[in-house]
Amino acid sequence: MATKELQSVAFGSKEAAAMVKELRESYGSGKTRSYEWRVSQLKNIEKMTEYHEQEIIEALRSDLSKPEFESYIQEIALLKNSCTLALKELKSWMKPEKVKSSPVIFPSSAEIVPEPLGVVLVISAWNYPLLVALDPVVGAIAAGNAVVVKPSELAPATSSLLAKLLGDYMDNSCVRVVEGAVAETSALLEQKWDKICYTGNRRVGRIVMASAVKHLTPVLLELGGKCPAVVDSGIDLQVASRRIVVGKWGSNNGQACVAPDYMLTTKDFAPQLVEALKRELDNFFGKNPLQSKDLSRIVNSNHYARLTKLLDEEDVSGKIVHGGERDLSNLRIAPTILLDVPQDSLIMNEEIFGPLLPIVTVDKVEDSFDLIKTGTKPLAAYLFTNNKKLKDQFVRSVSAGGLVINDTIVHLAVASLPFGGVGESGMGAYHGKFSFEAFSHKKAVIYRGFAGDISVRYPPYTMGKLSL
Ligand code: NAD
Repeated sequence: MATKELQSVAFGSKEAAAMVKELRESYGSGKTRSYEWRVSQLKNIEKMTEYHEQEIIEALRSDLSKPEFESYIQEIALLKNSCTLALKELKSWMKPEKVKSSPVIFPSSAEIVPEPLGVVLVISAWNYPLLVALDPVVGAIAAGNAVVVKPSELAPATSSLLAKLLGDYMDNSCVRVVEGAVAETSALLEQKWDKICYTGNRRVGRIVMASAVKHLTPVLLELGGKCPAVVDSGIDLQVASRRIVVGKWGSNNGQACVAPDYMLTTKDFAPQLVEALKRELDNFFGKNPLQSKDLSRIVNSNHYARLTKLLDEEDVSGKIVHGGERDLSNLRIAPTILLDVPQDSLIMNEEIFGPLLPIVTVDKVEDSFDLIKTGTKPLAAYLFTNNKKLKDQFVRSVSAGGLVINDTIVHLAVASLPFGGVGESGMGAYHGKFSFEAFSHKKAVIYRGFAGDISVRYPPYTMGKLSL
């Protein structure tokens, strides 16, 4: 007990304040603003990721049994791509943008100068513990900030690896890792930051935002919610099913913010859809998915209990049409499909964040859009159709962080698109140039000389001057 107490005070408010003070001094020296410093730090993240790829894969395996392929494609490669793009584009991102000035102040010129915000905090989640910790750091560094990153304690192997690697590779006068849970994060949140980027659930999102209020600190909130996938008939069902299965179970076994949370289709089409999904599940993960090496496990016993509670609710357990097997000793739950669960069940009212996929049936596929709109705005929404009118209606009428037509989750890998939520699924966005912008201030600058000074705006005022 004594050790635990000692551990919990090892990083408290005093330590957090001292660390922020040091980082402010380093930031104040101007070193993070130089192009050379930014490039050197981005290259170090790139090198670190490359040289320690196997250790990263092992840490992700230890935290989540994440399949090596997924670790590489969905975490390592995406992080490296972010660094490569930032290194390639940094000069142009940093360049002031000349804009038109106003004839009212002729002669003059105007430009927008991007400047770093200062010392920023990144708090990250456990499900993509490498990517969601370091991808915002890439943006923060590219924009010239000092940064503290707090990885998730629910992915302890990745958290300690990040602490070690960033300690070894980065300029620690400006880039720090703080490991820990609620106590440590709370100590960090008491400090004054110039921006807080938080990835995680809405409940804690509210805590982060409330603490930011004290110092009027801007926040980037990357949250989640229930991402719907609408499936129309008359499509290539095999391709659609593969893309749904890989977006749901091939993304950390459903523990992904953009994984389809539930599906909507017509009563008539539902049986065909279920059969097609079952076929692809068998093809991808075999007849005994609890043994599959291509599926992540559930992160911990609390989340396992949360998920099995959703499944065991009265009126829900009888609706399983595929899967449902589980193994507490290995924290595994098989890909599970449910058909027509009650709308007021827990599973339809909470973000599932796991391998359970309820299918809701509607009379007409268009009715799906009204159903989606009864909930909070999702982080992502998906539509499978060949119908042009339906696509247009979807894009026009469904509000979500992002939409994908005829695929799932792929939008997060497109760096020219902003990634973020809307409404309760998040605030602000990042990825690619949007990451640079998320951690920059666009400073408005006007240049004037002394010639051509007109007296119109100088007192004594006469309305007649306005007609000149
Ligand atoms: P988590 O449990 O790892 O928590 C996230 C962070 O919040 C951690 O660093 C944790 O230490 C901190 N935290 C927890 N409780 C706190 C408290 N009381 N005060 C201060 N800090 C606290 O992760 P999670 O929340 O379970 O993550 C899953 C959620 O994140 C889902 O809702 C998912 O949709 C969302 N998510 C969103 C994105 C995105 O990019 N939009 C990415 C991944 C996950």
